Amino acid sequence: MYVPRILELSILADSFTQMSQEIQESRQQLEDYSRSLEQKVSDRTQALQQEIQYRTEAEVALQSANEELKRLAYLDGLTQIANRRKFDEQLSQEWRRLKRDRLPLSLILCDVDYFKQFNDAYGHQAGDECLYKVAYVLAIAARRSPDLAARYGGEEFVVLLPNTALEGAVEVAKKIQVQIKALQLPHQRSQVSQYVTVSFGVASIIPTETTTPEQFLVQVDRALYQAKIEGRDRIAIG
Ligand code: GH3
Ligand code: MG
Ligand code: MG
Repeated sequence: MYVPRILELSILADSFTQMSQEIQESRQQLEDYSRSLEQKVSDRTQALQQEIQYRTEAEVALQSANEELKRLAYLDGLTQIANRRKFDEQLSQEWRRLKRDRLPLSLILCDVDYFKQFNDAYGHQAGDECLYKVAYVLAIAARRSPDLAARYGGEEFVVLLPNTALEGAVEVAKKIQVQIKALQLPHQRSQVSQYVTVSFGVASIIPTETTTPEQFLVQVDRALYQAKIEGRDRIAIG
C-alpha cells in the first residue's frame, strides 16, 4: 500500500511524541519512586535514632535503679548507716587484704547502756531516735575512707578500722564516747549517768592464715562484755 511520505512522517512524529511521553512518564515514576524511597529511609533512620535514644535512656535509668537497690541493700533503714550485711562483706574483704599486706585491723563493738530501760521510760520511738543519733556520731567518727560504721543489730554498733593499730582504735572509741555524751540525751533510768552512754569493746589484729574474722569478732565481743560487767560507760580492750 502506498502511504504518502508526508503521512509517513506524521505517523513517525506521533510515535516519537508518544515515546517521548512514555519516557517522560517513566522518568517521573522513577523520580517519584526514588523520592518515596528516600523518605522511607529518612523515616526509618529517624525511628531508629529515637529507638536508640529510648534504649539509652532506659539503660541509664536501669543502671541508676540498680545502684539505688544496691545502696539500699547495704543500708540500715532506721539509722541510715551501713547494715550488718555490708559490715560482714567489708570485714572479709579487708581481712584478706590486710592478711596479704600484713597490716593491722581494729574493731570497735559498742552497745547502748540500759537501752531497754530507755525504751521503757521514753517509748520506742524515742528509742529509735536515740539509735539514729548514736549512729550518726559513729558515722562521723569513721569517715576515713576504709573505715566503716555499721549497725550490728538492735542497739549494737560496730566500727571497722583497717590499717589501724589498737592505740588508734582506742582513740577513736574515746572520741565516740565523748561525742555521745555531748549529745546529752537524757536517760533517767540509767544507773551510770543522767545521759545516754555506750560501752565499748576494742581489739586489734594482724590477720593470719590461722585466725578468722569470726574468732576476732568473738574476741571483741568478750571485750564489750567485760566493759559491761565492769560497770558500763567504758572502753575495754580484748
Ligand atoms: P545493757 O546495758 O546491758 O546493754 O542493757 P540493755 O537494756 O541495753 O540491753 P538489753 O539487751 O537488755 O536490751 C536491749 C534493748 O534494745 C531491748 C530492745 O527492745 C531494744 N532495741 C533493739 N533494737 C531496737 C530498735 O531498733 N529500736 C528501739 N527503740 N529499741 C530497740
Ligand atoms: Mg545495751
Ligand atoms: Mg545489746
